[in-house]
Amino acid sequence: MINSLRGMNDILSEDYERFTYFINTATDIAQKYGYHFIETPLLEETALFKRSVGESSDIVGKEMYQFIDKGENDVCLRPEGTAGVVRAFVQKKLDKAGGIHRFFYHGSMFRYERPQKGRLRQFHQFGVESFGVDSVYEDAAMIMMVSDILKALGIAYRLQLNSLGDSNCMPQYRDSLVSFIEKCEDDICEDCVRRKATNPIRVLDCKNGTCQVIYKEAPKLINHLCSACEDDFEKLKKILDDNEIAYEIDTNLVRGLDYYSKTAFEFVSDNIGSQSAIAGGGRYDRLVEFLDGRPTPAVGFAMGIERLMELIKMPEVKRDGYYLGAMDEEAIDLVVSLTHKKRKSDKATCDYKAKNLKSHLKGADKVNARFCCVIGTNEMQNDTIWVKDLENKTESTMFLKNF
Ligand SMILES: [Zn+2]
Ligand SMILES: [Zn+2]
Repeated sequence: MINSLRGMNDILSEDYERFTYFINTATDIAQKYGYHFIETPLLEETALFKRSVGESSDIVGKEMYQFIDKGENDVCLRPEGTAGVVRAFVQKKLDKAGGIHRFFYHGSMFRYERPQKGRLRQFHQFGVESFGVDSVYEDAAMIMMVSDILKALGIAYRLQLNSLGDSNCMPQYRDSLVSFIEKCEDDICEDCVRRKATNPIRVLDCKNGTCQVIYKEAPKLINHLCSACEDDFEKLKKILDDNEIAYEIDTNLVRGLDYYSKTAFEFVSDNIGSQSAIAGGGRYDRLVEFLDGRPTPAVGFAMGIERLMELIKMPEVKRDGYYLGAMDEEAIDLVVSLTHKKRKSDKATCDYKAKNLKSHLKGADKVNARFCCVIGTNEMQNDTIWVKDLENKTESTMFLKNF
């Protein structure tokens, strides 16, 4: 028997119900916010992710499904969604066209990680990207959209916020952080010593307990923002207050790549153990430029669908549609034709074998049909059909012309 690859799951039955319920709910809300669907390829040039996600990141350094294809191209399966959307945005010259462009996407992403609960090698993300809006109101709207999606799915969350500053105030802050790290270099973990050289901001979200205690004393960017960043952050907090969206400030919420700026946010759940982040996003005003486009302000977020699956509160499933069955061989053709006719307006399924009433009622239950409809020789002679409404528990015999 051939099994699926490790960390690559089939989605069917109850999981599929949840999965599509998530996609439909999130799609509906994204469209209400003015976003349009975009589909980008699963396979891209490796260089795209090296440049956007960054070569120093674990994703690019360790986790990519990268290979040389038959045409000698260095390609990889996408590990995340933003890079492809930005590439498409630039390739279609939307950066030069100007204006506002809002996209949402969902689909498979691939990372060669050690599979564990809620973390797969092929997983699914839902995300949105907004281009061309240089206003913190757009950041706020996006946070409200994520909040709307999670609320609609019945998922409790905490929202964490930070500001990453901009090219004005970040470099100065980085320098002061580096001098702080130098003073305590003997006490921090090896990873942090390495980060000091490659990506000092990332020391702040080190998971090492000793490091975390030490960095409590570290300078906070939030206290060193330039006035433009400070104003935006205050405005963001006010809009969220006005709209009754609770948040916490988390000064350790950092990204570590130069194209991120200002707003950074993360939605976390306390109900899924240590991997608590369920959605993350923020502003990335310089990424379009990084990928050879005209400088374009942008903000986006992504959420991993598998992590959310078990948290989704599914709506009560109602009985729906028709189940048709024949009691005698001669009635089968008629049942098949009636089912086909019924499907023009309703969900309808039928059984291809003649069975007794009890078996057909069981069959209707199995597909959760509202109506169990049965025809035998008796009904055929009278041009009638026997119908049981399984919700109201009523039965009737009706003429076929009225069915
Ligand atoms: Zn550390
Ligand atoms: Zn600033």
